[in-house]
Amino acid sequence: MKVLFRGGTVVSGESCRQLDVLIDGEKILQVGSSLSCPDADIVNVEGKLLFPGFIDAHTHFDLDVCGTTTIDDFASGTAAALRGGTTTVMDFACPNKGESLTYGLNLWRNKAEGVSHCDYGFHMTIDDWNPEIRRELPEMLREGIPSFKMYMTYPAMMIGDQAIEEALKELKQLGAVAGVHCEDAPAIDRMIEEAKQAGKLGPDSHPKTRPGWVEAAAVRRLLLLTSAADAPVIIVHLSSREALEEVRRGRKNGQTVYVETCPHYLLLDESLYEQTPYIEGAKYVCAPPLRTKEDREALWQALAAGEIQTVATDHCSFSLAQKEMGRGDFTKIPGGLPSVETRGILLWSEGVAAGRISAETMCRVLSETPAKLYGAYPQKGALLPGSDADIVVLDPAGSGTLTAEDQLSKSDYCPYEGWETRGAIEQVWLRGRLAVSEGRLLTKPLGQYVYRTNAREK
Ligand code: MN
Repeated sequence: MKVLFRGGTVVSGESCRQLDVLIDGEKILQVGSSLSCPDADIVNVEGKLLFPGFIDAHTHFDLDVCGTTTIDDFASGTAAALRGGTTTVMDFACPNKGESLTYGLNLWRNKAEGVSHCDYGFHMTIDDWNPEIRRELPEMLREGIPSFKMYMTYPAMMIGDQAIEEALKELKQLGAVAGVHCEDAPAIDRMIEEAKQAGKLGPDSHPKTRPGWVEAAAVRRLLLLTSAADAPVIIVHLSSREALEEVRRGRKNGQTVYVETCPHYLLLDESLYEQTPYIEGAKYVCAPPLRTKEDREALWQALAAGEIQTVATDHCSFSLAQKEMGRGDFTKIPGGLPSVETRGILLWSEGVAAGRISAETMCRVLSETPAKLYGAYPQKGALLPGSDADIVVLDPAGSGTLTAEDQLSKSDYCPYEGWETRGAIEQVWLRGRLAVSEGRLLTKPLGQYVYRTNAREK
């Protein structure tokens, strides 16, 4: 079946152009001026913008963490994603220490297969480092996984500096890339101990025990390791000015450093942890924590200047009941926010419509660059002939209100409750099928696994 999108503005990382888009089945057939095709259904998109389907390269669905399991599994998480314009998610396959990567991959495949509403891929978490894991790395690439994740904090996940350096070297040889969670574990442990000694056990202690310098210290150490390994690296969920400064320093020294940030670091700030009662602060606990307004502003400027390459969500959602687990001890609050459903419209409303970034930048950070960086381009991340017909139709004249009641995420709160948004995501097409229309999810779970390659394009 052919569909012709007529009269819209096609957005890429380079330009916004008045172009028609003709799709045939799951693929884009043609993009050009005044296209005609007698046997195509016509979709009138005059006055609308067409973005390549958004890619969320940082989600955690169906993850056992903090003594509980995220409230969104692949069914609800990908439904929420798709509704918000995200046609591909990349989740983190996460074996436990002692388990093989293959075991972890199969586990995640079983969680996602047959229930996912949007397309999906996995990054592989390296939370254990030994000869067996090293030997498994090429197999992961053959399975379509050229991207990995490592942690500099969390006892269950961290592998230590020497292991990170060795792994980075190995990954570089394979043409793979790693994202790293940067926070300095010993510093955090010491500050948590001090807070507990002082009897400060509420959510407001959370940001105080993980200040920006703790992130910056880890970034600096990581960049020494990547320098030694002569390897590129991705700093995931960068949140602070101080850490951004370390990235600038590394780049000045000729290092290849990619930066991801998240909507909550751009839009929310640490004053939310001061709210009472307890649950109002607990809602916003995530790591790294929300920062100051000045940090927020620095991130927007860096985003506009091209210093930040991607905006992903780190969607890791819990219910308010789960967030109750940390009452009386903020270190037991399950960390993470639901974001996968709201990222696209928030970037439009607070970014483009507010004049902070261009539509082209939005396209780069939500679609094009994650596709290139993670080896899915041009199948994903572009409206080009031959690309998957994943299309977001955005109405800049639309508007909406974000509420928990309205969302498909199973989380019973929305971090942006009551926010009015400018613009509206009118339609979402997944591989040639109209999957979302005016906020309604129309399709069964059609999500497919995306095989990615290590042919990274910049
Ligand atoms: Mn994460």
